[in-house]
Amino acid sequence: MRAPVDNHDPLEFQSRLLDALFSHEAPFSVPSCHRDNTHAGAMIRCLDCDNTTLSCIACTLQQHQNQPLHRIHRWNGSYYEQDSLARLGLIISLGHIGNTCPSQNLLSGPQLVTVMDITGLHYVRIGWCRCFSGPSHSSQLFALGWIPATLSRPTTAFTFRVMKHFQMLSHVARTTPWDFCIAIQRLTDNIEPEELPVSQILWSICH
Ligand SMILES: [Zn+2]
Ligand SMILES: [Zn+2]
Ligand SMILES: [Zn+2]
Repeated sequence: MRAPVDNHDPLEFQSRLLDALFSHEAPFSVPSCHRDNTHAGAMIRCLDCDNTTLSCIACTLQQHQNQPLHRIHRWNGSYYEQDSLARLGLIISLGHIGNTCPSQNLLSGPQLVTVMDITGLHYVRIGWCRCFSGPSHSSQLFALGWIPATLSRPTTAFTFRVMKHFQMLSHVARTTPWDFCIAIQRLTDNIEPEELPVSQILWSICH
């Protein structure tokens, strides 16, 4: 007969924790949406959704229409590798309740914007409203809750969330802008952090 589990045993706790951590290192079942042939293909997981299920690309894009800053990983058969919603094709259309602006054309299509959030640096593909009497690009970012690095043709932005986070860390822990940016940089990529566009962001914050 199996010995009863001692819930107060630290070794038992450690073993359960390791099991839980390792269970996230590889898919343990085929995603439910893959049982339908139209959802076959890549298996994607989101690090920021409170849900551990895997999805196909189409379902991932559908689930993230309003969550462009979520971080995603793709299962490559051996391990999860970093991917991005922008690379999968997510476009955030502004100014028309989520619909594409009728004034967009091939020459003025979506544009990649670098966004700093508390989970790291993200590239987001933005479909601007380009209507003649529409708001400026910076006003469109402010409406999203993002602070543009410049008012004229912004390509970098900071979420209100990340600024509040920095304000609290600065007050409570005396964190400097430099240290905060390095931490965000390493949250994004702890292997090759120097490859990230953090210098532009530092320049915007510090000047
Ligand atoms: Zn998500
Ligand atoms: Zn699917
Ligand atoms: Zn428009």
